[in-house]
Amino acid sequence: MKHLIFCILICASAAYGQKPPVPAIVIHGGAGTIERSNLSPEAEAEIRAVLQRALDTGYSILENGGNATDAVMAAITILEDAPQFNAGKGAVMNDAGTHELDASIMEGLNLNAGAVAGSSIIKNPILAAHEVMLRSPHVLLAGKGADQFARQQKLSIVENKYFTTEEVLAKWKKMKAQKQNTRGEAAPTEREFAKFGTVGAVAIDKEGSLAAGTSTGGMMGKMYNRIGDSPIIGAGTYADNNTCAVSCTGHGEYFMRLAVAKEISDQIEFGKKPLADAVTYTLVSRLVSMGGSGGLIAIDKHGNIVMDFTTPGMYRGYKHAKGTKTAVYADE
Ligand code: ASP
Repeated sequence: MKHLIFCILICASAAYGQKPPVPAIVIHGGAGTIERSNLSPEAEAEIRAVLQRALDTGYSILENGGNATDAVMAAITILEDAPQFNAGKGAVMNDAGTHELDASIMEGLNLNAGAVAGSSIIKNPILAAHEVMLRSPHVLLAGKGADQFARQQKLSIVENKYFTTEEVLAKWKKMKAQKQNTRGEAAPTEREFAKFGTVGAVAIDKEGSLAAGTSTGGMMGKMYNRIGDSPIIGAGTYADNNTCAVSCTGHGEYFMRLAVAKEISDQIEFGKKPLADAVTYTLVSRLVSMGGSGGLIAIDKHGNIVMDFTTPGMYRGYKHAKGTKTAVYADE
């Protein structure tokens, strides 16, 4: 019910027939068990400040006539560099205790897309995804090939331990200890670790072009070389100027099986649904009934915005000419 109320508020401008403002940018910093009881006021303030900086940076690009892809990249780069989120610095660790990062970007004008999966030394995987889109004949590069390509493109390269923060390392150790106690049966999605923290952005520029991007460290304790939905075009990320741009966060295996981002686009194109209905149908009716959880941000070709989630909270925010807002919990 909470998510429905939230969605109705955000979509109010569309419901009353007002034209939504364009350009606009929407971001998320992951969905999960984000509750007031487990987030200190200081930590919350820091997170909101980073979200606002990402929004301001992305929006100023749009306001100055820049394109949606550049705005999405700029916003995500800031979130990747912030240790609070599960992307870039602060990314979670796999079962082996190392970081494997995934990212993707797509532009709605021409359906161009690029992605990297399982990268381990690229400081900003979203920039590598963009390079794959621009300067390779491929859509997705994985593992050592992605790292090598990023090096060739002269992107910033770091040691794998650059991504480790004390908080993530402590959680990883706790999770390993729990797994040992339960003979490996403890799933990485259990409540304590189900703070997904992936980052993403969607934007519409002054020309009406859409773009979407997503970046993540994946799921805490994932198997070595596991790849989730975030670098999969159509699952975690999708953009089409005829419909919408979408970036997802949550339990990737479910988002992949439903091809959530493309499904939402299809619901608009073939099901003739408004964006909010397409999201409700895909995220709430279908994903939840399969046992999945998470959230997503989306913007349609008119500039209507949806930020919806099935978890207690999702870091999120938007900015356009009529205002800006950051939010964390379901009741705001
Ligand atoms: N969707 C990501 C994955 O499954 C996790 C997240 O959203 O935090 O890799």
